[in-house]
Amino acid sequence: PTALLWFRRDLRLSDHPALLAAVDAAGPGGSVVPVFVFDDRLYGPSGEPRRRFLLDCLAELDASTGGALVTRTGDPAAVLPQLVAELDAVSVHVTADAGPYGRRRDQAVERALGDVPLVRTGSPYAVAPGRVVKRDGTPFQVFTPFARAWREHGWHSPAVRPDPVPWQGDVRSDDRPPPPDLGDVQLPPAGEAAALEAWHRFRDERLLGYDEGRNTPGTNGTSRLSAYLKYGCIHPRTLLADLAAEQGSESVRRYTDELAWRDFYADVLWHRPDSAREYLKPELQGMGYDSGPDAEQLVRAWETGRTGFPIVDAGMRQLLGEAYVHNRVRMIVASFLVKDLHQEWTLGARYFMQHLVDGDLASNNHGWQWVAGTGTDASPYYRVFNPITQGKKFDPDGSYVKRWVPELRDLDAKYVHEPWTAPGGVPAGYPEPIVDHAHERQVSLDRYAAVRAR
Ligand code: FAD
Repeated sequence: PTALLWFRRDLRLSDHPALLAAVDAAGPGGSVVPVFVFDDRLYGPSGEPRRRFLLDCLAELDASTGGALVTRTGDPAAVLPQLVAELDAVSVHVTADAGPYGRRRDQAVERALGDVPLVRTGSPYAVAPGRVVKRDGTPFQVFTPFARAWREHGWHSPAVRPDPVPWQGDVRSDDRPPPPDLGDVQLPPAGEAAALEAWHRFRDERLLGYDEGRNTPGTNGTSRLSAYLKYGCIHPRTLLADLAAEQGSESVRRYTDELAWRDFYADVLWHRPDSAREYLKPELQGMGYDSGPDAEQLVRAWETGRTGFPIVDAGMRQLLGEAYVHNRVRMIVASFLVKDLHQEWTLGARYFMQHLVDGDLASNNHGWQWVAGTGTDASPYYRVFNPITQGKKFDPDGSYVKRWVPELRDLDAKYVHEPWTAPGGVPAGYPEPIVDHAHERQVSLDRYAAVRAR
């Protein structure tokens, strides 16, 4: 028999339960056809860094299947039944998709396949979204109790990699879309081998310093695995199995927590598919936001890293330069857009999704809701990040700012986060601050108070 393995966000061969299921279904003497479908509804709207990274991951996956990967273009509900008929396949195997569009699409594919089963095995998460619930069966609203229950629930050991896989290599492919030209943008190397190498290097060299290092954007303190996790070049189970061997340190606990955040946000989206767009705190829905040509100009300054607030500008330039931003700085730039420039979080979330290589609906949009104070979890609406004190605290020697904002490279560290206090004033070519942070903070607090009083 022939079984199809339809790859989506699981672009690897190790620790891949759906691959094992496909090999099983093919049985002795059978074959597995690996397929990827370029679906216009998903591929088209992805930003260029994600499209490029995905194409590069597919090239790696193709190589590791000995060139067997079949690519087709179109609506999966039309393309897959056609391929099943061409190959007389007995089943189509996938890793379950928990996102709102993915769930609808998979139901449509399932209907279109008729008698040929769409078999879902595993998910992109340590614990599949929807599985961890409170004792009364309702979903968690807040991270900390979710994470506790998530640890108690536990997860499977990594699945063994089948070897060899009986790939069938003679199936016609459609042309792949041309790779977007990203100019000077530096993406991480794509694919499963690169993901494993990045993980091993982090685990062996930096994991034990993670608790200290994770908040200093000027150092290489985090794992930089987010794009690999997004596309499933590596599964969180693989990481958690290694972490279990290192138990006991605060850094290991902290890193495990970050993987729990990833699962938590996917869980929230599972229970509330509308939360990618709708406020999780509906009472804040009527907030006043700024619009008009002046506001648009301020947004342009934010987008291009020319706000005159060095840590904000460094973050936005990192976004354009690496399609990535350090987590601490994501919070700072997001807070600045929402609370200093009075823009709705959805605008920033869209901009991030266009430019991030790890752009993920659940982590990104809920990360924005968290910063905006509209999310499920406990972040208070009145917390407004001060870009100057945040810069001084988390980038004390100014190395992050100097890396991304060359205009400030010659400044003494004590002026880097407030260049207007330097003896010679703001260096030539760098903007004066576009707003008065203390004033805008108060404007934000007043607007929050007004909407809550309604
Ligand atoms: P590490 O610190 O090494 O963490 C390891 C992994 O844990 C990450 O790769 C990621 O998968 C997960 N993780 C860590 N922090 C979070 C978090 N707060 N929420 C969810 N998962 C987390 N992460 C994305 O993967 N995609 C996004 O589109 C995204 N958008 C964000 C937008 C905003 C406004 C904010 C505040 C955060 C966002 N994050 C997003 C979360 C976080 O910033 C990134 O996951 C992290 O910076 C990736 O770098 P790393 O792999 O070195 O992280």
